[in-house]
Amino acid sequence: MLASPAMPERDRARKVIDRLEAAMPGARIELDFRTDLELLVAVILSAQARDVRVNQATPGLFAAFPDAAAYAAARPEDLWPHVRTLGLFRNKAKAIVAAARAIQEEHAGQVPRTREALEALPGVWRKTAGVVLVHLGAGHAFPVDTHVGRLARRLGFSTATDPGRVEDDLSALLPRERWGQAHQLLVWHGRRVCHARKPDCAGCVVARLCPSSTARTGAGRPSSPRPASRRRARP
Ligand code: SF4
Repeated sequence: MLASPAMPERDRARKVIDRLEAAMPGARIELDFRTDLELLVAVILSAQARDVRVNQATPGLFAAFPDAAAYAAARPEDLWPHVRTLGLFRNKAKAIVAAARAIQEEHAGQVPRTREALEALPGVWRKTAGVVLVHLGAGHAFPVDTHVGRLARRLGFSTATDPGRVEDDLSALLPRERWGQAHQLLVWHGRRVCHARKPDCAGCVVARLCPSSTARTGAGRPSSPRPASRRRARP
């Protein structure tokens, strides 16, 4: 974790998020859902799968299993025909059924709206709980997926690879009220501009604030950012 970030780092983080928000005012979760349970199921299915593929699978799944009781009464393999196009579908089906049984038995069929209760559900980990909390408007969280982690390191906001430590670093830089929004903006920026293999630094709205930008050097791929104490980003 970065030690007690100085004000300039917080100021830089705020400016990054402000610029991303101005560039992508419509940034929103790209999974389709209508209910709390559909959101939870879609987020579980989205692990190591593209949202567009999840959205192709979920209409049939949601129609076949309209509530927690329906999932709870099913066997994991009953879900397979609907989700077999997604990676790790057997494990995901197992997790969904187990979570639904806990929701049915311990929460009267309603998805709980606290981090503690969400993380207590079988198959629901920290990132999944955070995404659900943020998009239900039920609490503050800064979920770290592959895009958020990559962006945090390239932008010099974290040197960690462990998602929990990256989340701690990012959370220390922005007020709680902006965590969910910042998460979504970083996900969108990672998908559209700051690609893992070939980031478009020349077209990036935060290039002037990014210590990894190749826009000025002409290098093809960002190098690891220098330690925070040596960085000096232009405003
Ligand atoms: S300048 Fe390049 S490395 Fe930095 S955030 Fe933008 S696209 Fe990513």
